[in-house]
Amino acid sequence: MSKLKNYSILIGGLLLMTTPVQATSSSDGLSPAETPPAAGQKPDATIPFSYQPYFGQSMEQPDHIKSLYPDPDVAFTTPGFAPDKENFTTTEEMMSFLHELDTESDRLQIENIGFSQENREIPLLIFTEDGGAIDETKNKPTVWLEAQVHGSEPGAGEAALVAAQKLALEEIGDELLANINVIIIPRVNPDGSHYFQFGSARGPWINRDHMKLDLPETKAMNKALQRFKPEVVLTSHEYGHRNWDAFKEFGNEGGGPYHDILLAKGYNLNVPEEIRQMADDLLIQNAFDQLEDAGYSTDTYVSFPEDYDPDTETITVSEGNGSPRFEKEIAALLPSFTFLLEGRGDRFGRESFARRVHSHYLTIESFLQTTAEHSDDISSMIHDAREQLVENGKTVDPSDTIIIRSEATELDRPLEILDIETGDVVEVPTTYLSATEALPTLERVRPRAYLLPPSHQHIADKLRIHGVEVKALNEPVELAVERYEVVEQTIGEQVQEGHITNHVETEIETATRIFPAGSLVFEMDQTAATVIALALEPESEDSYVTYNFIPVNQGDEIPVYRYMENDRLDASPISDETSTQPEEASPISLVVLIGSIGVALASITAFLFKRTRKRQQL
Ligand SMILES: [Zn+2]
Repeated sequence: MSKLKNYSILIGGLLLMTTPVQATSSSDGLSPAETPPAAGQKPDATIPFSYQPYFGQSMEQPDHIKSLYPDPDVAFTTPGFAPDKENFTTTEEMMSFLHELDTESDRLQIENIGFSQENREIPLLIFTEDGGAIDETKNKPTVWLEAQVHGSEPGAGEAALVAAQKLALEEIGDELLANINVIIIPRVNPDGSHYFQFGSARGPWINRDHMKLDLPETKAMNKALQRFKPEVVLTSHEYGHRNWDAFKEFGNEGGGPYHDILLAKGYNLNVPEEIRQMADDLLIQNAFDQLEDAGYSTDTYVSFPEDYDPDTETITVSEGNGSPRFEKEIAALLPSFTFLLEGRGDRFGRESFARRVHSHYLTIESFLQTTAEHSDDISSMIHDAREQLVENGKTVDPSDTIIIRSEATELDRPLEILDIETGDVVEVPTTYLSATEALPTLERVRPRAYLLPPSHQHIADKLRIHGVEVKALNEPVELAVERYEVVEQTIGEQVQEGHITNHVETEIETATRIFPAGSLVFEMDQTAATVIALALEPESEDSYVTYNFIPVNQGDEIPVYRYMENDRLDASPISDETSTQPEEASPISLVVLIGSIGVALASITAFLFKRTRKRQQL
């Protein structure tokens, strides 16, 4: 008996299968059941031992459930819908489709923004009215769409190709591009798409790498994001992983996810409230209305930190949070209108594929149309918010704070799910963690600048990818600054996205320090100011202290300083190529060196005696 059979499990009346249901073509010439795993890869968690390029299926929907989701009467001509197609669009098929569009259309330019870990191309499509560069004098908003961030979400990727085709060749493209520009990255994760897995080829998830920037895919994407600074950002996914498991104890045969499309906006509380409000009231509401009119079910996106409890008949669901590690939140800090788009379907192979792609595409079309119809309002609101951010950074005002941490508000709110036994839509009560109504739990006065020692070029390099202008002190200077001391730390129990996290609490006091020439200066009168603060304020969920790019222990002074005077420091911009290291050791360097040894010894002692633990936060 094949070892694979051991993984066939019955969950909630749904047969979860270990091998693809359809006979898919394997490039290795092996039948699916005999296909060994690909070295180092982790395909969809419920298909632990299969490797079918560009295909995976871990579940068949029972007929009475599948019949609730009929395919629309629409014929698609993107590569994934080719006659007799058994797997999903390969990267080679996608590239030749895109180059063909480029040849046929005078509204499109294609660029390669970088390569994946396995050296696959990551194309970026630029759509403008005349097919030229984006003309900033025209004041048109730019809408950014990225898809297949998780490789096992092919409906999201295919819908991006449908959108590209319509923008390039159809009448609607002409109409929309009169008022907006559009950028599309149809496949952020080409390696994961090849292996049909959630993560990148080395494992970590691309959607959670946006602050720490460990992965080439994330670096390429963020560099491009800064180049275009879009006013509206959509990140497109298919949901399913936890949604099927969370309700397995419900009813007689379990509960399943119901909605075709789930949407969420950027939640970070540093984004002006009027932007978050308009995201809900205008852009999301329009998409919901248009989808419901077309016969698709919709709701706000939630995830499931805990399973359904049959004793209390409740489940905890979460809207997520505003942490900048997520694509939707890092883009929100531009600031921009940002949205997460999640469609039903990441487990069941090609079942309901046309419906999934169609509902996804209609959502994208709605966001494009709403932006085009309100292009002046959207442009000016984002423009003003960016100018205000620069203005706020010019003076220190005790009433002007940055929100470093926040907490969701707990609400009672029912959630619609499918009773798998009957196929009925039922409402279950939930403990609903609302990010929309989150409240700040830690705020700090916006400094004039942050200062770091000259050694911290690796921090400068990361922040530059986020569009930050970095300066270096021209001369040594003695300054009164705010310094942090670590008073508490919680070290993660597991490797999380490649890191053991170090969550710290600090106390701040004013102190005088000598800053050598070449010390790094991050001034706050720039549009990337919020990213700077959330990277450098140690308690921030995704700070560079949290991820150990700035390693510290209890009792340490953190080598990040808050400069609270209004006078501009004597500093000059530096680029990647500019060396800021002093050529020879100066007396100041020696003092710093001796101090560092002392701090290191104190750190080791503190680490050995004061290690505390905390539940891993995802
Ligand atoms: Zn996803």
